[in-house]
Amino acid sequence: MTCPLCKRRVKDWTGDDPRCAFPEGGFDRENWNCATMIAVRLLASNEQATALWVDDHNFSMVPIGECFPVEEDGDDHYMAMLVVWYKSRGNTFGLYFLDDINPPTEPRWDEVWRVLDYYRKLNSDLRAYLEELARAA
Ligand SMILES: [Zn+2]
Repeated sequence: MTCPLCKRRVKDWTGDDPRCAFPEGGFDRENWNCATMIAVRLLASNEQATALWVDDHNFSMVPIGECFPVEEDGDDHYMAMLVVWYKSRGNTFGLYFLDDINPPTEPRWDEVWRVLDYYRKLNSDLRAYLEELARAA
């Protein structure tokens, strides 16, 4: 199984086959060129993100509080997404949602999609990539 974005995408490169980061809905760090993770990295490389480069590794933080509004009953809600990858290789081995109470958690695809759907309105690179995938469907 693959995520909805990998399902739409046509392989147009000669390297290794893609390996979806959300084969069963939850995050799998043994991914390669997952279409959703390409979108996440576009977002994590743009002005909405705060990035740190250490020993050829990207550590990028994106605010996501607006994507998960506080419930009226005061439930916990996510505040930031941390994305970690090496140089510009196809593997994204770190993906965490953070809040102010709980340990970091690895998000499910539908949670990541809420972030992408929110930011597609603000980020033209992300919007163009998602529209390209929609046309390929
Ligand atoms: Zn995928």
